[in-house]
Amino acid sequence: MVSSPTPAAPALPLREDLRGEQPYGAPQLSVPVVLNVNENPYPVAPEIVADMADAVAAAAVGLNRYPDREFLDLRADLAAFLLRESGAELLPEQLWAANGSNEVMLHVLQAFGGPGRTALSFAPTYSMYPEYARDTLTDWVTGERRPAGSEDPFGVDPEHACSQIRHHRPSVVLLASPNNPTGTALPLSTVEAVLAEVAALPAGGVVVVDEAYGEFRREGVPSALQLLPQHPRLAVSRTMSKAFSLAGARLGYLAASREFVDALRIVRLPYHLSAVTQAVARTALRHSETLLARVDELRVRRDETVQWLRHNGFTVAESDANFVLFGEFDDRHAVWQGLLDRGVLIRETGPAGWLRVSIGTAEEMQSFRTALMEVVNEQ
Ligand code: PMP
Repeated sequence: MVSSPTPAAPALPLREDLRGEQPYGAPQLSVPVVLNVNENPYPVAPEIVADMADAVAAAAVGLNRYPDREFLDLRADLAAFLLRESGAELLPEQLWAANGSNEVMLHVLQAFGGPGRTALSFAPTYSMYPEYARDTLTDWVTGERRPAGSEDPFGVDPEHACSQIRHHRPSVVLLASPNNPTGTALPLSTVEAVLAEVAALPAGGVVVVDEAYGEFRREGVPSALQLLPQHPRLAVSRTMSKAFSLAGARLGYLAASREFVDALRIVRLPYHLSAVTQAVARTALRHSETLLARVDELRVRRDETVQWLRHNGFTVAESDANFVLFGEFDDRHAVWQGLLDRGVLIRETGPAGWLRVSIGTAEEMQSFRTALMEVVNEQ
């Protein structure tokens, strides 16, 4: 058989600013111990899986029709959950959801960012933020968390944050709390200082507190949800990917004023949340107590991991999340690779010299500890 020569691929008219860009994502490798993307190590319990299957079957009967575009039942369930979890009193109209909090935040940038506008966050922070800005043609500013030479490298200094806001006049400020990759939660006073500064800008702006890891915060650390009644420019985003063990279901959500949510309704694609996703998420919310039952266990193991790392001479960032940032290594890539060679996948992220490990099962953390000691003793 004679195969015809493949014609040279034509140069596609990709946007100039996207040329040479790589798709974002951590390696998805098949190894025994996966601790690299802050997933919950515990699968959904069989009785909840069975309920989800029933709910999906019921939804499937109606899949010839588009799903409920406003998903008000799901929004009511999310509001009820936040009342239980944080005591926040919210109307269903104050909740929004999308396929992961990534999509929720893309909606925020689509509605409040755009050409000629700026979005700002404080590094090191979640590496997707600049991508939402790029994709919505919003200018991006990487702010600093602290003035140079400051002792606490990962907290956000309110004065320093506010002076950068005055300077750059952002339309959108993104604050991750607890922050990824450092694990740092922000005091509400810092969030309030940022809100006041943003409200005082000539064109105003909005502030998103990204609480993707909010359920893992330590005792006494408040959620920014309690600031919502006084702050119509504030949104607090959450996700079912972490504490709920549902990363595969893709359900992120946000609470804000009604006006804020109405702005997001303008930019969403019609029917963006499938009937299957809505059915799975509502089932999960019915079982929230069972699904979240192991969050405490993960928090305890997180604290034990911090102590163990410190005891063994590593520098460790305080964490209110389900991961720990630790270092400092002259050659962090060699340590990451050494762990991978022993079947333990963690994340090479954060400031130079640091690595991030997600909190897994007791057995997985034991494998991590054994592998890490082998690797550092070899060096
Ligand atoms: N915010 C932060 C800080 C995150 O770390 C992540 C996931 N790694 C997300 C948002 C997005 O999560 P998802 O889209 O799964 O809700």
